[in-house]
Amino acid sequence: MENLQKFYINGEWVAPLSGQTMPVINPATEEVIGTVALGNEADVDRAVAAASRAFDQFSQTSKAERLDLLRKVKTITERRFEDLAQAMRMEMGAPITMSRGAQADAAIGHLQGFIDALEEHEERIKLKNGDIMVREPIGVCGLITPWNWPMNQITLKVLPALATGCTCVLKPSEHTPISAVIYAEILDEAGYPAGVFNLVQGEGPVVGAAMSRHPDIQMMSFTGSTRAGTAVTCDAAETVKRVTLELGGKSPNIVFDDCDLAERVSASVAECMFNTGQSCDAPTRLLVEQSCYDEVLRIAKKAAEETAVGDPEKEGDHIGPLFDKIQFDRVQTMIKVGIDEGATLLAGGMGKPDGMDKGWFVKPTIFADVTNDMRIAREEIFGPVLSIIPFDNENEAISIANDTPYGLAAYLQTGDPERAERVAARLKAGAVHINGGGFNYGSPFGGYKQSGNGREGGMMGLEDYLETKTLHGL
Ligand code: NAD
Repeated sequence: MENLQKFYINGEWVAPLSGQTMPVINPATEEVIGTVALGNEADVDRAVAAASRAFDQFSQTSKAERLDLLRKVKTITERRFEDLAQAMRMEMGAPITMSRGAQADAAIGHLQGFIDALEEHEERIKLKNGDIMVREPIGVCGLITPWNWPMNQITLKVLPALATGCTCVLKPSEHTPISAVIYAEILDEAGYPAGVFNLVQGEGPVVGAAMSRHPDIQMMSFTGSTRAGTAVTCDAAETVKRVTLELGGKSPNIVFDDCDLAERVSASVAECMFNTGQSCDAPTRLLVEQSCYDEVLRIAKKAAEETAVGDPEKEGDHIGPLFDKIQFDRVQTMIKVGIDEGATLLAGGMGKPDGMDKGWFVKPTIFADVTNDMRIAREEIFGPVLSIIPFDNENEAISIANDTPYGLAAYLQTGDPERAERVAARLKAGAVHINGGGFNYGSPFGGYKQSGNGREGGMMGLEDYLETKTLHGL
């Protein structure tokens, strides 16, 4: 792929100023599938200069013009859907059925969510006191994304920037650059004016930090680890940028004995293992009412043992590999930590599944009898590892659920709608999924506490990219 060694700046694919490169590796085969150019500060300067020049005109475009462009993006994304799905299958190991149905699907789903929101969005609001409040694009935006949901994160940032009339520089994860190149090709074909969208590949501490510090970038939108999000915030402080953060999670999933245990516990295990456990909002702590604890352990063990692990190229509902060796080693370490901490290994364990020597495949693993002070209950493992924690009553469940530095999502399984409302109101999380209620495109997504700030998607996702100006005397 030729464009993998170039950057998209000012409407053209250009040679990087930095000479550095890095191999891109397929985690299922451990084979090198490409070489990506890694940018430097000078590459960032060039992209920011292009975005700054383009902002003057693009910020003055009408909502109708921007909606037209977004609809073109939709048509082209639909045509290049399979390219996106195959790219994520290769670069991060998403099994192809899931890569199409969830990873690539997000590119279309979020886009429709933003089109719907922009259609409704009011850019001028007359206040009761006679003043006029104008919502304007904030300026040049720096966008940094992770590798675990590549298209989901890119579209959640690039599209609201473009929808509101901002211009932007995207730095995708250096580990998943292929889908980002395809997305840049899609935006190029849609006909955005030169400099409105720019892509610079590279490493976080180099390219990402240069963006966070850049005086001509007005806002940083970051998704990734809490560690890197903190670095972006510190780097951006000097120039008083707006910073929005979508960070990690250790989401609780509370199982009360009045739910349909067979159905809800199996689904809960599947949800934790989805994307090989590499989702920020995965329900990784299963809090279980004592009265149904033994039965839940039986169902969960069976569900984990029946979770198939397999080749991402094959169609099916199996999970794929972890995305690289570092991640594999980290998950192995955390499984060992769980064993050493005295939790009961209910399913899975260390090592690769039988017969899978090549690729970063791991066993779907469950620990029972976990206490919330154990590292496997507190730290984001980012692999298919579930920790089961017993509780005695509703108050204790809520207290364990909230006893985490994170607050991205929470999950509830109960047959009692009043209890669902009552408990949801006390959970400190940006989303509460009740009895399997899934995320819908266009709804706000984001977290409390160290899971970040701001909300992505739909109307609230647009809001993050807007400044407010008050007109007095008109
Ligand atoms: P990461 O923090 O290592 O990297 C994310 C991005 O930040 C990459 O593009 C990386 O190059 C860049 N980066 C790293 N250090 C940086 C620095 N000092 N300055 C600027 N940029 C820097 O995370 P990852 O391993 O790619 O992704 C996994 C993490 O992302 C997990 O913690 C997961 O929970 C989180 N995540 C959160 C959400 C959400 O919406 N809350 C969604 C997906 C992933």
